[in-house]
Amino acid sequence: MTRWQAGEAADFSGVGRQLKEPTNNNGSAAIPRSIPRSGSLRLLAGLTLAVSLVVAAVVVLQQVQTTAALEVHTHKLLQDVIDETRENARGFLAQAQNAVELTEGLFGTGLLAMARPQELERYFLHQLRVLPQVDALYFGDPSGQFVFAKRDTSRVDDGFVTKFIFTGDKGRQVYRVWRDAAFREIGRASDPVDRYDPRLRPWYERAGAAPGTVWTDPYVFFTSHRPGLTAAEGVRDDAGRLLGVVGADVELQALSVFLAGQGIGAKGSAFILHRNGDVLAFPDPSLLPQPGEGDKFRLATLGDLGGAAAAAGERLQRDLPGFDDMTQAHFATFDAQGERFRLVFAPFLEAERWPWLMGVYAPEEQFATAIRRAQRQSVVLALVIGVVVVTVTFLFGPLLLGPFRSLQRDAFLDPLTELLNRRGFLAAAANEVKRVRSTGGTLAAIMIDMDSFKSINDTHGHMVGDEVLVAVAGRLRCELSGGDLLARYGGEEFAVLCPDTFADEARHIAERLRAAVGTTPVLTSAGALEVSISLGVAESSGIGHGVEELLHLADTGLLRAKRAGRDQVVLADPVAVG
Ligand code: GH3
Ligand code: MG
Ligand code: MG
Repeated sequence: MTRWQAGEAADFSGVGRQLKEPTNNNGSAAIPRSIPRSGSLRLLAGLTLAVSLVVAAVVVLQQVQTTAALEVHTHKLLQDVIDETRENARGFLAQAQNAVELTEGLFGTGLLAMARPQELERYFLHQLRVLPQVDALYFGDPSGQFVFAKRDTSRVDDGFVTKFIFTGDKGRQVYRVWRDAAFREIGRASDPVDRYDPRLRPWYERAGAAPGTVWTDPYVFFTSHRPGLTAAEGVRDDAGRLLGVVGADVELQALSVFLAGQGIGAKGSAFILHRNGDVLAFPDPSLLPQPGEGDKFRLATLGDLGGAAAAAGERLQRDLPGFDDMTQAHFATFDAQGERFRLVFAPFLEAERWPWLMGVYAPEEQFATAIRRAQRQSVVLALVIGVVVVTVTFLFGPLLLGPFRSLQRDAFLDPLTELLNRRGFLAAAANEVKRVRSTGGTLAAIMIDMDSFKSINDTHGHMVGDEVLVAVAGRLRCELSGGDLLARYGGEEFAVLCPDTFADEARHIAERLRAAVGTTPVLTSAGALEVSISLGVAESSGIGHGVEELLHLADTGLLRAKRAGRDQVVLADPVAVG
């Protein structure tokens, strides 16, 4: 077996094999790196990005919407709480006021009179029994006489104490009578040292000075030493002369107990503030100052209460409108004890009578638990969906993209030789041009055309012509380095692009190619066939980096090689081409 026969055997056997297993990357079956792999990776990245954006949008939208919903929901809840609490508190106080107005009316019609103190006492006791909010009911007249009935548990549960002060002809007499729940007398004592004078008390002074029912500011009750309020109204005769003043006491503590029953929640609280900042009512009376001796007693401020109440007070002072400017509910938030609280303040109903503010605060969590839970769940759900979609995309994307890949491959490869086709070559060449431009290198191109190929077809048939094409493609491929691009540019034409290569070097490569194809006959099914190629070489310097121009220039070299008798290399001269 001759040397060429052995070589040809390998070459021929490669015809079939090369279709499936190309040996290097010069236009190999795998798409060269320089061809844009736009499809697959960009599609995957795009899909992932789209999913991430959708998830992010869902999360953000969800946050915004639930935050807005939370705001509305919280405001409404707080407004409801404060409206209801204000209404209830007014009802609570109204009992004392009603008792005063009724009593005043009874005095006016003569049904009650200071002259009949026993009847008066009995009436007061009955009123106290049916009006649980009222702590004491009494009447004082301009001569300093006084009948007073009050709840009293110092002797029996649900008991009462009555005090009488008479200033008649026999001089001043003061005595007390203790009674059980059924009004039975269980004790009596006179108190000659008692100096109480109703006419000097705040309720008497205010009611004596103005018609209608008046409410005192909070003050300390004489008997219990506890802070409270009094509703009072003057009783006048037809001439308008003051016959006396009826008073009804409400202990502030009762107001606090009332607030505690409003169900604001464990960490939340309602409270009532006087215009001067004093706390009139707070659900936890243990935090309030305990009753002291005499009038020295001072009401607490919110600051004195500590904790969330103090923080609420601070917030109120900081930038909420002052008491006088406040006409409607104001909402605010503050932080205390590591939690965010919601706060609402509103003037008490009938502010001219009760110049107070009512406030309610509660941890945001208390209002928001359900909403926040839903918010968290949907965020987690969106994230899980996002992660699942991205994971599925990565796991199954390549499978899905398989058909795209092979389509892409088909679009760039020549199925017969598995070299790049013209489109693949031009796409890959464009990338090379970009790279070489940025580095300032040169490009060389070689155009190759098989000599007298038509006669092979004509003599041995098209199939044999194909075998020759595959064999020549293989020889060319083996002769080139990894950085060169090789393509089947047309029917029996091949093109080579050599980056960073000068004309001389390219000419040497072309000579090598010519030798590789022409030295040994190609073994085909029709026997060994002599083949040769003509080659035109061109270099980019002098004509710029345009691939089309470069190939065109190489083509002129090829034409000259054909004209000069074929089986040769001609270096195209850009100047000659013009
Ligand atoms: P020369 O280039 O040396 O001037 O002569 P030529 O015979 O090669 O002339 P030309 O380039 O005009 O002819 C090319 C021939 O190549 C024509 C066509 O039948 C043949 N051909 C083109 N593509 C294929 C192909 O895929 N398979 C086969 N078998 N033949 C092809
Ligand atoms: Mg041709
Ligand atoms: Mg030809």
